[in-house]
Amino acid sequence: MPQDSAIFKIQRYDPEVDTLPYFTTYNVSLRKGMTVLDGLLDILDQQDGSLAFRASCRGAVCGSDSMYINGAFRLACNTAIVPLLPREITINPLPYMRIVKDLVVDMDPFWTAYERIKPYLINPETAPERERYQSPKDRKHIDEMLDCILCASCYSSCPMVWSDSEFLGPAAFLKAYRFVGDSRDQGQRERIKAVGHENGVWRCHTVFNCTEACPKKINVTWSIEALKRRSIVNRLKFWQR
Ligand code: SF4
Repeated sequence: MPQDSAIFKIQRYDPEVDTLPYFTTYNVSLRKGMTVLDGLLDILDQQDGSLAFRASCRGAVCGSDSMYINGAFRLACNTAIVPLLPREITINPLPYMRIVKDLVVDMDPFWTAYERIKPYLINPETAPERERYQSPKDRKHIDEMLDCILCASCYSSCPMVWSDSEFLGPAAFLKAYRFVGDSRDQGQRERIKAVGHENGVWRCHTVFNCTEACPKKINVTWSIEALKRRSIVNRLKFWQR
């Protein structure tokens, strides 16, 4: 007989009043097709208005509800409850990030790293009357990287981020390559410079955690390796002058 309820075991922590994180358990009544986010919203509405978490689009587009659910990085909005049963559903905030409250983590270091790679098209040429043309083949080269929703799962999973707060992290590198590999962009030199320092791309130890963590199934490690190759080619060009 299908289960009509699920146990949610949620990590709680309010740095203003708690000395250590702890777990609170909730019994959630199930409806057909429920996701983990639906369960969290039910808890918030019906059981505990003090529970803090982020969510917005409910369609795996905004990336704000990335969490660590039953030992894996997932988006709460596209994680169905039924396949996780009969186990209880254990939810932690993104690991190794400062907890603001409960499942809400401090995203400032992630956004600071993202800003440093200049995440916008750099092209000093006068803009054409219509769009800057890009062939389907050139667009295909960056297709996968455009799926990134900036959820920070890869960032949270990266051992170099855990040990070096200045390390830019996988998502920033992926986005750097998204522009370096864009046929319309002319900011290659400054972007390679932005990732070529001691906290940049060469600190990546290629452990593949980022690729495994990504809920959009992007091969993040491939992009980082492509960025390393582009960085070497740029240096060779410089020395050959
Ligand atoms: S690469 Fe994947 S895991 Fe990293 S921020 Fe983008 S969507 Fe999230």
